[in-house]
Amino acid sequence: MCIHLKPLENYLQTQGIAETYRGQVWSKNCREWIYFDAVLNPQELKEKFDFDDTIKIHDYEDIKVGSELGLVCIICNDAIMGAHPNSSYAENKKIIE
Ligand SMILES: [Zn+2]
Repeated sequence: MCIHLKPLENYLQTQGIAETYRGQVWSKNCREWIYFDAVLNPQELKEKFDFDDTIKIHDYEDIKVGSELGLVCIICNDAIMGAHPNSSYAENKKIIE
């Protein structure tokens, strides 16, 4: 994970959130994406970690391939994702904000 998003990764680990997947999920524009077994509130987390505009909110909803909500570093193409709050995967998940 890149230095910009590393503090968030460390934080999720200290919260005991399991990592469900790590790797290149998209063919391009993607270096390392980590998926956590939780629902992330990206706006709150941006403020908490004082992220600037190089960290973008990624809000993707797709019924077929699955939905996700998290933060992407546009400098490094790394990202930290959680379950999308509107998806069935979000049920009973811890909300991180
Ligand atoms: Zn970065």
